[in-house]
Amino acid sequence: MNDLKPCPFCGHDAKIEMCNLRVYDKNVSTTVIRADWEVRCTACFTSKSRCSEYALDNENHFHTLIDGRSEAITRWNKRANETIDISAENGNNNMTNG
Ligand SMILES: [Zn+2]
Repeated sequence: MNDLKPCPFCGHDAKIEMCNLRVYDKNVSTTVIRADWEVRCTACFTSKSRCSEYALDNENHFHTLIDGRSEAITRWNKRANETIDISAENGNNNMTNG
């Protein structure tokens, strides 16, 4: 289950969790749900998060529209491989700490 690489900054274990689950859109047939998946170091709290989007239809079937969980894991692992390269962090400046 846990294919996360260790933290690129301190080498401790990272974990992934879902946060900010909310209903994004709702109509007669479908409810669209968004959630953020956050990979976070258990020691220094460096984090990386991606938004996921899911649809729940009126037969209670659950569809993944945007798989933010794998994206968050991929991005975290990529950064772990590249060690510290903050210049590659354009565009996604989430100030979610605190
Ligand atoms: Zn760390």
